[in-house]
Amino acid sequence: MEQPISVTRSNFNDWMVPVFAPANFIPVRGEGSRIWDQENKEYIDFAGGIAVNALGHAHPVAVNALTEQATKLWHVGNGYTNEPVLRLAKQLTENTFADKVFFCNSGAEANEAALKLARKVGLDSGVAGKSGIVAFNNAFHGRTLFTVSAGGQPKYSQDFAPLPNGINHVAFNDLEAAKAAINEQTCAVIVEPIQGEGGVIPADIEFLKGLRALCDEFGALLIFDEVQTGVGRTGSLYAYMNSGVTPDILTTAKALGGGFPVGAMLTIDKFAPHFSVGTHGTTYGGNPLASAVAGAVFEFINTPEVLEGVRHRHQYFLDALNTLNAEYQVFDEIRGQGLLIGCVLTAEYAGKAKDITTWAGEEGLLALIAGPNVVRFTPSLIIPEQDIDEGIARLKRALAKLAK
Ligand SMILES: *Cc1c(COP(=O)(O)O)cnc(C)c1O
Repeated sequence: MEQPISVTRSNFNDWMVPVFAPANFIPVRGEGSRIWDQENKEYIDFAGGIAVNALGHAHPVAVNALTEQATKLWHVGNGYTNEPVLRLAKQLTENTFADKVFFCNSGAEANEAALKLARKVGLDSGVAGKSGIVAFNNAFHGRTLFTVSAGGQPKYSQDFAPLPNGINHVAFNDLEAAKAAINEQTCAVIVEPIQGEGGVIPADIEFLKGLRALCDEFGALLIFDEVQTGVGRTGSLYAYMNSGVTPDILTTAKALGGGFPVGAMLTIDKFAPHFSVGTHGTTYGGNPLASAVAGAVFEFINTPEVLEGVRHRHQYFLDALNTLNAEYQVFDEIRGQGLLIGCVLTAEYAGKAKDITTWAGEEGLLALIAGPNVVRFTPSLIIPEQDIDEGIARLKRALAKLAK
C-alpha cells in the first residue's frame, strides 16, 4: 500500500483557510479520555472535542454501530426514509417532551431550522408582523448568517452585514429586560439553559420560568438551544429537565453523535406541521450512518447509571479543582452543571485562559476556554477517575507556570 501523504502542523497555515488557530501538535489517535499526537505524546482529554465525544474516543459502542452500518447503507437521500433514523426519532421522542424530530448535521443547522420554524408558525398565525425573535447578549447559536445574528456576540456577526433583521438582544438572566422586549410580534425566544461559549453561565430557573410565561402570554415559541447542554452533559438527558421548564423547540447536536456529525430539532405536534413538505430540508440530515451511531450513543448515555455518573464526576471535578485553587488562587468561581464546567479567572489572571490551555497542552492536557476569562472542561461523560486525577495533576503544573 502507498504511504499516506506526510503532513505537519505548519501545513495548516499553508492550505487551510485561517479561521482557526489550532494547537501546535496534531492528535492522531484516541482511546477513552486519552489522545496521542504525531510524536506519540499522550494527552488527557478534558475537552472532549468541545462537548462532543461523550463516550470518549473509539468507544466500542460507537465503533460497532458505525462499522456495522457502514457495511449496510450509508445514504439514500430524503426521497426515502431509513431504519436507523426512525429508531433514533423514536428514542428522542419517547425520552423527551417532543413528538417530532427534524434531523440535520450540526448545531447551527438545528438552530437555523428552529428559527425558521418559529418564523413560519408566526406567519401562519395571521398576526401581522409576527416575526420578531428575542435572543440574549453573549449567546452562541452557531455560524450560519441567521444563527450568528441570533447569537449575542457582535464580533462574530458584524463583519457579515447586512444581517437578517427582526432579532432583538437583551441581557441574559434579566427577566425585566425580556419582558420589555417580548410582545405580540414576537415569534420566538431562543436561549441556552447554560450559556456555553459565552462563559459557562447557567440561566436562573426563575428566568427560564419567566420566559415560558411570557411566551405563553404572547404566543411565542420558546426555543432551548441544548446543542452544548444536551445528551447527558449536565447529568440529566437534557438540561431543561433540571429546570422544570419545557420548551416548544429544543435543538441538540454536539454529543448526539458522540463525534459523528449529526444534529436535530425537536418539537411538538402543534408546531411540526407548519414545516410542511418542501418548506425546509437538507441532503445529509438523518442519513443512516449518522443515525445509527447517534442511536447507539443515545441508548448508552440514557441510563440512570451513566447520568448519575456524570453528576458524581461533577462533584469529583469540583473537589479536585477546589483543592487546586486553594493552593494557587486563580479561580474566582467554578460553575456549571455535570461535565460542563467553567473556571472563572480572578481579576489578577484576567485574560489568561488561553495561556492556561496552551500550557496545559505542553503538560499533556487538552482543555478549553469559554471567552478570555474562563477555562472550560467538557470531557467524556464516562471519563475514568484516574484520568481526572492525572489531568488535574497536569493542570496543576500548568497553573504553577501561571503563578510564576
Ligand atoms: C456549538 C454550539 C452551536 C453550534 O453548533 P455547530 O455544530 O458548531 O454548528 C450552537 N449552539 C450552542 C449552544 C453551541 O454550543
